[in-house]
Amino acid sequence: MRIAVVGGGITGLAAAFEVCDEAEVTVYEPARLGGKLLTSEFAGRLVDEGPDAFLTRTPAAVELATAVGLGTDLVAPAAGRTLVHFAGRLHPLPSGLVLGAPTDIRALATSKLLGPLGAARAAWDLVAPATPVGDDETVRDLIAARFGPRVADRLVEPLLGSIHAAPTAHLSARATAPSLLATARSSRSLLAGLRKQAPPATKSNTPVFLAPRSGMSSLIERTVEQLRSGGVSFVSQSVRSVSPPNSRVGPIDVDGEPYDGAVLAVGAPQAARILGKLAPSGLSSVEFTDVAVATVCVSRSNLGLPDDVNGILVSPDSGMLMTACSFGSNKWPHWSSGPDQMVLRISAGRSGDTRAVNLSDEELAETLIADLSAALRRPLTATQWRVSRWPGAFPFYRVGHLRWVDIVQSNLAGILPQVALAGSSYNGAGIPACIASGRSAARQVSAVLSTTSAAP
Ligand SMILES: Cc1cc2nc3c(=O)[nH]c(=O)nc-3n(C[C@H](O)[C@H](O)[C@H](O)COP(=O)(O)OP(=O)(O)OC[C@H]3O[C@@H](n4cnc5c(N)ncnc54)[C@H](O)[C@@H]3O)c2cc1C
Repeated sequence: MRIAVVGGGITGLAAAFEVCDEAEVTVYEPARLGGKLLTSEFAGRLVDEGPDAFLTRTPAAVELATAVGLGTDLVAPAAGRTLVHFAGRLHPLPSGLVLGAPTDIRALATSKLLGPLGAARAAWDLVAPATPVGDDETVRDLIAARFGPRVADRLVEPLLGSIHAAPTAHLSARATAPSLLATARSSRSLLAGLRKQAPPATKSNTPVFLAPRSGMSSLIERTVEQLRSGGVSFVSQSVRSVSPPNSRVGPIDVDGEPYDGAVLAVGAPQAARILGKLAPSGLSSVEFTDVAVATVCVSRSNLGLPDDVNGILVSPDSGMLMTACSFGSNKWPHWSSGPDQMVLRISAGRSGDTRAVNLSDEELAETLIADLSAALRRPLTATQWRVSRWPGAFPFYRVGHLRWVDIVQSNLAGILPQVALAGSSYNGAGIPACIASGRSAARQVSAVLSTTSAAP
């Protein structure tokens, strides 16, 4: 059984890993293996340019890291506070939030970010009659209906909106906050429903996030090492087309090479181009947002922040280019090469905001440092900086996204059952979701091929 995996990001590598024991696997990747997972040297340390941690709640990333021998290298970020920049000031994020939704009324009552009116409106959820909740709706509608506009705009928007680089007024609750949607559907009070379900990770003392101490690239390097020793081949080529067999069970054609099946571990628009006329209708319709990260080194004394602050989230009402800032050396102490050194990662890029694209790297770094200086109300001087650009990085999951996923996947299964789609365009953009999607696509292809080869 010969399987082609198109795309050598974490999704494609996970797909190859899943079936390399039972199939002859070839991974096609025209660029560096790893896609958005990239660690490189900065200020004398290895610092991630893209993702720097993965969630443990979906176990796929921890499982892969453990399977490739990185289990003991996984570290949790240091515990720390997050601040929100709203209406020109920095406020601590209240404790007890689930994706920005409150579970602790006392923490809200003392929060200057919400104010007494906002806290009182949120508490009304405990006694208010149930609100009708559909199969899917926008995150903002769901939250505002239960907790009022202040929780929606001051807690959930900065948190979920910056994670997805898109406004919660258009984000699908089913795709980006399924636990909130499910609880809102099953419980009259969303707050009471969320409070009942302490996340399993907290119960078992497993950290919510983990990362390889040596950076995300080590997950790629170790996985590739194991794939190569398991006989997987790597071809440095951008695949242009996957075409069907002449008969229903014959080999498919991947740029002229015959394979029994394929996993397309690329973005949905790229998969649509590769499939050409065979692409399920609407496959190229997912929108993507460009993001950029400026990694900056400043002295701690210049920053003037307590050591327990891990990050700042920026409300879109600020008009800033900065969407978030992660205080890397607080979060990951191994990122500092000296006691007074602070490595920061300042992010830019929201759906519809193209300002970053039109700035040179130097202008972008200067603007982001100026935004952070304004948020902290003190001028910052960077001793070093670099800019990492990630065009088309984040898929925009609008309301109805998961219904769309079901439709395109089942349409493709009807046309080319030996080809499956995987990656961040579909069931989640986080690393664990991408790994799970690569594994499941590979398994699906392998199952189809086993059935057709067993057929008389
Ligand atoms: C700045 C940033 C921060 C992030 N932070 C986090 C985080 O902290 N935690 C988290 O869990 N997630 C995070 N993410 C999201 C996560 O990194 C991505 O969603 C995930 O890595 C996507 O993996 P992928 O393999 O599906 O896609 P990609 O990494 O994009 O890989 C796809 C690969 O396909 C290749 N390709 C494209 N076309 C073709 C073709 N025609 N033929 C062959 N190959 C092709 C590309 O070259 C690329 O290497 C972050 C992303 C970014 C950009």
